Amino acid sequence: MHLYSKIKCPNCNTWNENQDYCSNCNTLINYQLEKNQKEEQKKLEALEAPKDKIDIWLEKIKNSDSGLDKALYWALRSSWFLLLAFVTLAISVLIFGPG
Ligand SMILES: [Zn+2]
Repeated sequence: MHLYSKIKCPNCNTWNENQDYCSNCNTLINYQLEKNQKEEQKKLEALEAPKDKIDIWLEKIKNSDSGLDKALYWALRSSWFLLLAFVTLAISVLIFGPG
């Protein structure tokens, strides 16, 4: 599973072979491992701040590299606020309106 090869340490430029951490300065040089750790961190952050599904989904689109996804995010976001505004208005009419 591990794709070990010679990896140059970005910190001290030492070449390391079959190492997750630099043999010279102990910097994490296994990018796959670093990626996994970041994903773990993201999961932990998500657990610390529970969000509902639409928020998580919107967040995913927002963080996407695709411009189309970003456009979709802003379109959805604005229509969501429009919907909220509409519901608020409808409730106000029900409560305060003639009837
Ligand atoms: Zn190093």
